[in-house]
Amino acid sequence: MQGLRVLRYYGGRGLRLTRGFMQYVWDDRGRRYLDAHTGHGVAFLGHANPLVVERVKRQLEELPVCSMSFDCDARDEAVRALSRIAPSRLDTVAFANTGTEAVEAALKMAWAATGRSGVVAFKGSFHGRTLGALSVTWNPRYRRGFPVLDVTFLDFNGDPGEVEGALRRLEGSLAAVIVEPVQGEGGVNPATREFLRAVEDAAREAGAVLIVDEVQTGMGRTGRVWAHEHYGVEPDVVTAGKALGGGVVPVSAVLARGDVASSLEGGRHGSTFAGNPVAMAAVAGAVEALTRDDAPGKAAEAGARLLSGLRSRLEGSRLVREVRGLGLMVGVDLRRDPGPVLRCMQERGVLALKAGVSVVRLLPPYMVTPSDVEAMVDVVAGCLGA
Ligand code: PMP
Repeated sequence: MQGLRVLRYYGGRGLRLTRGFMQYVWDDRGRRYLDAHTGHGVAFLGHANPLVVERVKRQLEELPVCSMSFDCDARDEAVRALSRIAPSRLDTVAFANTGTEAVEAALKMAWAATGRSGVVAFKGSFHGRTLGALSVTWNPRYRRGFPVLDVTFLDFNGDPGEVEGALRRLEGSLAAVIVEPVQGEGGVNPATREFLRAVEDAAREAGAVLIVDEVQTGMGRTGRVWAHEHYGVEPDVVTAGKALGGGVVPVSAVLARGDVASSLEGGRHGSTFAGNPVAMAAVAGAVEALTRDDAPGKAAEAGARLLSGLRSRLEGSRLVREVRGLGLMVGVDLRRDPGPVLRCMQERGVLALKAGVSVVRLLPPYMVTPSDVEAMVDVVAGCLGA
């Protein structure tokens, strides 16, 4: 039988993975790789983290299906766990399955809660591929040919005065402002404190819901549980995904202020798989792994070592424009296409991924050791001839 052809969303890397454990994966020839790709940042808590795997295994045998119309212990436990790490003003959680769905739910909350339709997002943003999330995603290559919503894009890290002016002009029609604290897909761009604070103030002033998209930055990756904690801002809504399921199950969530979230109750939103017990067991395991091992603290430490190692090794390299990042979300911005560098790194045993058009992005798991960090620095530098 002729099998189906799989529609490939991304270019193939010519590698067949057969096994993963914590910061490493192995290919079909038994070769080990240090994984700074982690499935687009999903396995921040490691591959097959035993704390997550054990809970998921148990749940699979006990009760794998339980609609949101029914209660179950796995969901209660996930909610208890998330309550321990949720930003303090956000007292409600809505579950979904992927990052883009969390963004859709967040936008719908803002529209329903304000009764307005305007949305502000930022140049360089990435929020997902379904139509609402795609509408607030900047990259014209992703948007072209699709009937996206009308969204106002402002400069990321732009002048605070301009942000305030633009939001003031939209006052009365603005439902939401959505922002990533560190743009991931857009090129690993950390927001400046001044910018993010101005966004928060202007959103509040305009009566808009401030949505901070932490699908990539959340769950400890940047050195705090939530990246917005670095900035002292207080979002109305936070989206989480990727590492939320401990790298084992696709699951996402929206943490929100009760008055904003409750606008979606009573049949205004829904999802068959949202809050399913297997995903909930993974969430509880992920929060346990995160807190028990101080994953954010370890990410802060390893991230600082990685950033300074790369900076000192690549200083003066004509191929490198900038090395930047926050915690274990690190980008090396090149003056050339990162494709050949990523291939070279793969050949030398380190997996990473591209961001923007010119950035080699490193998203390793929190448990990378000092010698893993040294290996990453060596391989990046070696592949850049530095
Ligand atoms: N928001 C951000 C900030 C992301 O980085 C991503 C994925 N890269 C998404 C949303 C979409 O997540 P998913 O691919 O799970 O739909």
